[in-house]
Amino acid sequence: MLKVEHIGIAVKDLKKSNEVFQKLFGKENYKVETVESEQVSASFFIMGDTKIELLESTGPDSAIGKYIEKRGEGIHHIAYEVVDIHLEMERLKNEGFIILNETPKKGADNKLVCFLHPKTTNGVLVELCQEITTYY
Ligand code: ZN
Repeated sequence: MLKVEHIGIAVKDLKKSNEVFQKLFGKENYKVETVESEQVSASFFIMGDTKIELLESTGPDSAIGKYIEKRGEGIHHIAYEVVDIHLEMERLKNEGFIILNETPKKGADNKLVCFLHPKTTNGVLVELCQEITTYY
């Protein structure tokens, strides 16, 4: 894995949280993106070599909505950038990690992503992501 690509934070109200984090960071988010397939709306802040991603549920079946219902707002996942997501998934599977989606899916911010089950990663939801531009 190359680096921490972003940290995902689950929020109830993206508009409100955006204002809070803009005050906290002293700068504006650089974009808001909705991922229909994940029923999530995301706001992105650049923090040096990494990003903070605020995530709001946009539908009843979203993972973010369920997470907030169960555990409240807070850090939802840590995403690591990889060079080849297929190779990395294979490697981690062989190491005994449980991968939540069998094939990578299209995530926010032009990425191919997959998630590892938190029960094999000490309670931390881990995302692997690969830039789609480097993939094709
Ligand atoms: Zn993420």
